[in-house]
Amino acid sequence: MATITFHGAAQEVTGSCHLLEGAGVGRVLLDCGMHQGGDAVERIQDEEFAFDPASIDAVVLSHAHLDHSGMLPRLYNEGFTGPVICTRATAELLEVMLNDSVGLYLRDLERTNIRNARRGRPLIDPVYTMEDVEMALSKCQGHRYNENVSLGEGASLRFYDAGHILGSAIVEITLREKNEEKVLVFSGDLGKSDSVLMNEPRVLERADVLLVESTYGDREHRGEEDTVVQLREILRETWRIGGSVMIPAFAVGRTQDILFHLGCLHYQGELDNWQVFLDSPMAIAVTRVYDRWLKLLDGDDVRHLCDVHKTSLEKFLPTLNLAASTEESMAINRIKGGAIIIAGSGMCTGGRIRHHFKSRIWDRRNTVIFTGYQARGTLGRVIVDGAKNIKMFGDEYVVKARVETLGGLSAHAGQSGLMDWIRAFQPRPRTLLVHGEPGAQDALAEKLWREQQLKVQIPARGESIVL
Ligand SMILES: [Zn+2]
Repeated sequence: MATITFHGAAQEVTGSCHLLEGAGVGRVLLDCGMHQGGDAVERIQDEEFAFDPASIDAVVLSHAHLDHSGMLPRLYNEGFTGPVICTRATAELLEVMLNDSVGLYLRDLERTNIRNARRGRPLIDPVYTMEDVEMALSKCQGHRYNENVSLGEGASLRFYDAGHILGSAIVEITLREKNEEKVLVFSGDLGKSDSVLMNEPRVLERADVLLVESTYGDREHRGEEDTVVQLREILRETWRIGGSVMIPAFAVGRTQDILFHLGCLHYQGELDNWQVFLDSPMAIAVTRVYDRWLKLLDGDDVRHLCDVHKTSLEKFLPTLNLAASTEESMAINRIKGGAIIIAGSGMCTGGRIRHHFKSRIWDRRNTVIFTGYQARGTLGRVIVDGAKNIKMFGDEYVVKARVETLGGLSAHAGQSGLMDWIRAFQPRPRTLLVHGEPGAQDALAEKLWREQQLKVQIPARGESIVL
C-alpha cells in the first residue's frame, strides 16, 4: 500500500514537494521546491524538511523552476544521497538555476551577517553551499520524454511533455504490488495550448490517482495573439511619452517568450527604435540552453524562427543588448527613455529589477509589465494589487509608473485548459488539487463538480492519502 504526503504546494503555489512511499517504490520525493516571498535569507534559514532527507531514495523532478527544485542542495546537505530523476533539458536548466540561486543566497547571507556583526548579533551559518549544488548536479539523471524509467523494484515512471517550460514534465508513475497495478499521475505545472515556444501539454487518459496543479483554477488567460496586440499598444503609448519599460521576468520561459514576441514585432516593423536589454546573467544563460533545444519546441513558430534566424532566440532580435556584468546593468540607468529592460526576478523578490524600479518606478512616463503569476507576499504582488508606495533598500518609493499585466504570456494553463486536461482521464481518477491558492482551488473544484461531476480533494500541508 503506497501513501502520498503533501509537504508543500498544498493550498499554496510554491514549495512543491510530495512524498510517495510504498513497498515497491521506496521513499520518493515528487519535486523538492522552495517557498517564495518574504525575506529570502530568513525564509531559507527557517525552512525545514518534515521528513529525514537521509531516508529518501530518489527525487523525481517535474521541472527546473526553483519552486519545484530549489531545496535540492539542502536535501543533499542534510543527508540525501540518491539520484534526481528528471528530463535531459531539466538537468541542463537546473545547472543554471541552482548555481544562480546559491550565489544569490550566499550573497544575501553575507550582507545579513555584516548587519548582524554591526548590531552585535550572532552570525548565521549557511544551510547549504556550492558543494551541495555540485553534488545535486552530479546526481541528476536526465531522461527523454516517453522513456520507461525503473523506479525501485515495483515501480516505473515516464515523463510526458507538460508544455510549461523547456523540459517540463507530467510524471506518470506505475506502481506494481502483487498482481495489482496502480497509476499515479502528477501534472507538475501545465502549460497553455497556445503558447508560442512550448508544445501543448500531453493529454493522458489513464490514472488511478491524479495530482493536478490549480494555479489559475479561477481564471482564464487572454489568448496569446491578444497579448501581442496588448504588448504592442503598451509599447506604443510608452514610446510616445518618452518612457521606458521594465519587465520583471522569470528567467526561464517568460523571458524567452518575450524575446520571441519582441523579435516578431521587430520584423513586422512595429518595434519603433526601442533598445532592448536582457539584464540578467541567469536569463542569458537560460536563453542559451533554450537555443540548444529549440528544435524540440513548438512546431510552426519555432520552425519559422529557425529557418530565418539561425536557430537562436538571441539573434532573432537584432536590437537586443545583453547585460551580464553589474557595470553593464548599471549603465542602463543612464538611458533616459526608450529602453525595454527585462530583468529578474519575476516576482521582484530580488535581482536587478529592484534597482531599475529604484531609478524609474516613481516616474509616470514609465511602464512596468508583469508577465506571470505574482505570489502572495512578493513585491510583485504588492505592486499588482495597486500599492501607491513600496519599500525597497530601506527606502520608500512612490509608484507612479503605469502597471500592466500580460496575462496571456502565462506559462500555466487557465481554468478551461485545466478542465479539459482533467476531463480526458476516463474512468475518473481520484483527483487532488495541488499548487494553487485556496480561492483558485475552490473555484476549480466547484466547476469540476458542476460540469464533470468530479469530486476532488484539496489536501492541506502535512496531510497524507493512501493510494
Ligand atoms: Zn513552474
